[in-house]
Amino acid sequence: MDINQLLRKNIQSLKPYSSARDEYTGEAMVFLDANENPFNEPYNRYPDPLQKEVKEKISKLKSVATQNIFLGNGSDEPIDLLIRAFCEPRIDNIVSMNPTYGMYQVAADISGVELNKVSLNEDFELGAQEILDATNQNTKLIFLCSPNNPTGNSLNPEALHVIVSSFNGIVVIDEAYIDFAPGKTFLHEIDKYPNLVILQTFSKAWGMAGIRLGMAFAQTPIISVLNKIKYPYNLNILTQKKALELLDKKVSVQNWVKLLIAEREKMEELLMEFPFVEKVYPSDANFLLAKMHDAKGVYDYLVEEGIIVRDRSKVHLCKDTLRITIGTSDENETLLNALKNLL
Ligand SMILES: *Cc1c(COP(=O)(O)O)cnc(C)c1O
Repeated sequence: MDINQLLRKNIQSLKPYSSARDEYTGEAMVFLDANENPFNEPYNRYPDPLQKEVKEKISKLKSVATQNIFLGNGSDEPIDLLIRAFCEPRIDNIVSMNPTYGMYQVAADISGVELNKVSLNEDFELGAQEILDATNQNTKLIFLCSPNNPTGNSLNPEALHVIVSSFNGIVVIDEAYIDFAPGKTFLHEIDKYPNLVILQTFSKAWGMAGIRLGMAFAQTPIISVLNKIKYPYNLNILTQKKALELLDKKVSVQNWVKLLIAEREKMEELLMEFPFVEKVYPSDANFLLAKMHDAKGVYDYLVEEGIIVRDRSKVHLCKDTLRITIGTSDENETLLNALKNLL
């Protein structure tokens, strides 16, 4: 598969912006090349455009070579960049599933690219053939999300393999919640599939949503395209410095994940005991989707109590559901106590 053939013509021929830090990357005594102010160290210097140090840490953490890693301002950045690189507005299209993460639709809409959604079944599982049937010769990207947001379930890995190996375009698997899932990541499948992109993020299990750091993993032709079209300094110096520090906290992260999974299991059980809760869907993520009588009423009541959950009632297949993020055990208990007042 020739990734360059899939690109928009203007991106194929694009000559990227060349920054001072691209042209000279070595050590030097005096830097007078970037019109920086010599005062106010270290914030006066432009950050490393390719984030070498951060990538080296992530490379060790994930066992993926640095040239297969793209870092973005959240994983929302590579979602947008992939669409802009591969989809010709008003001509090309994207296939995704329904329900799923809302940013694929928003990013497609902003770029003027059609996104066709294939419904999941009642168990929120996807049909590989249905996804493939929804593609045509102008489909450049398929966005899949596993574990899925807002449903919480992991997609069937067999179905994912069928889609990635059969589709003649790019398949993106968004693994934002993979750290909470018992199933295996598809990360190392990038060695096998030149058309596969895996998205992960430091916003969830790693507790760093505020520093905006997301990852895309793929073979080098795709990574090179993302690097070519991104803002030259897409990750600021504060994010890069903080990431280097926080990436050493792997053990804390593992403990958080264990604790949050235990809380999730407890909450699943306790929520089910409320007579107005019809169903709590199985979750491989750090949230639960719960179906209940008058979800909107429950939502409004919780807001009055100062507890905010996400009303997903208007989402396809999610009528009368609330998406509840797992908090600390105190926070979860506050929610349960508030719900008890509805009995
Ligand atoms: C939260 C989430 C993200 C994370 O986005 P960031 O921009 O990295 O914070 C990505 N995908 C899905 C499905 C999510 O739920």
